[in-house]
Amino acid sequence: MAKSVLIFGGSRGIGAATALYFAEKGYKVAITYNNSGYAAKIMQQNITANGGEFIVIPCDVTSSVQVDSAIKQAVSAFGRLDAVINNAGIAEQKLITDVTDTDWQKMLNTNLSGVFYACRSAAKVMVNQKNGSIVNVSSIWGITGASCEVAYSATKAGIIGLTKALAKELGPSNVRVNCVAPGVIDTEMNSNLDIGALADLADETPLGRIGTTEEVAKAIYYLANDADFITGQVLSPNGGIVV
Ligand code: NDP
Repeated sequence: MAKSVLIFGGSRGIGAATALYFAEKGYKVAITYNNSGYAAKIMQQNITANGGEFIVIPCDVTSSVQVDSAIKQAVSAFGRLDAVINNAGIAEQKLITDVTDTDWQKMLNTNLSGVFYACRSAAKVMVNQKNGSIVNVSSIWGITGASCEVAYSATKAGIIGLTKALAKELGPSNVRVNCVAPGVIDTEMNSNLDIGALADLADETPLGRIGTTEEVAKAIYYLANDADFITGQVLSPNGGIVV
């Protein structure tokens, strides 16, 4: 029987590449979108036209009610959930003195509470199944910290702590929890960086370039599908930057 995956934040960038990769591997795929419903539905049309099973679910990950509902809809469509990928996230570059309470709360709610809600909801399903795999999307800045990204770095470091703790809690139920911590990847999240800044980042990377969404998708797939004896780990597809 084909396995199933739910990808939070699957409408664009790394999440969309991950959805396509799992679909290519024969998974039944559910993605959530928040603002990019059109892009999500185009992806659904393309994949179902090629015989794949693919559903799209509206969900703002800052709402635990919407996250619980997304998990329920995926389980009801597929009968079970083999993998959940927590990819939805936002970034913002500001000096800490310019970060408002509203900025901070938005970053926490989206990047950290969203992952917490999805893990809590997925845990109920996967513990019952006595099987499952969760992959959370952190960032290299969650390991090293980034200047002018204090709030973002804090949420991404939080995801690493959450991942390690939950891996211990769910291991006895045969549920694995890992995270990826990508380096700089070519997506809209970095569209505010000018060509010079991107070139500098590529220069600082041993492989001499920034990464692609497909390269992160492969790391996520590896952790979710192939890494049977790996849990509580952080895999950093980052072109060789030592962290
Ligand atoms: P994009 O900006 O291209 O995509 C972000 C995704 O998150 C979209 O699918 C968006 O959905 C979704 N999203 C944002 N806010 C919410 C919300 N409140 N509720 C639900 N979904 C939401 O970013 P990337 O693909 O670059 O980033 C994906 C993940 O990878 C993020 O967690 C990011 O922090 C992480 N990452 C990215 C790196 C990079 O260099 N690009 C490096 C390291 C980590 P929609 O458009 O439908 O609103």
